[in-house]
Amino acid sequence: MRDNSYLKNRLYFLWRNYFPDVLAKEPIEIRFGRKAKYRFGSIRYCHASKKVHITVNGRFQDEKYPTEIIDHTVAHEMVHYAQGFPTPGPRLSRYPHRGGVVNRELKERHLHHLVYFYDSWVKGYINSL
Ligand SMILES: [Zn+2]
Repeated sequence: MRDNSYLKNRLYFLWRNYFPDVLAKEPIEIRFGRKAKYRFGSIRYCHASKKVHITVNGRFQDEKYPTEIIDHTVAHEMVHYAQGFPTPGPRLSRYPHRGGVVNRELKERHLHHLVYFYDSWVKGYINSL
């Protein structure tokens, strides 16, 4: 079973290699959350702790789920962060998913392989539910 330190390693790997221009304005915590069917990840700002929390679907602790799916989920949330979500302050876009802005930025950051992997994997996943 994967644990939260596994997630932390994936976050730092992706950050170092694909988001080097993105500065951490506040600490980012990442952990597995509850098991969900359709919600793979989320990012939110906690006013009390002044930290950003990325939560990844608890299902993905199981190693039968490919690493690429975890990387895609983490990178997706990192794009939100890079685009000004969910931190207080100026936002680049009010509607984070409009016009496929997340996928566009993933591709601009040379993460096409994760987008394509996800697109083909998710069909089989939905059918398996
Ligand atoms: Zn999103």
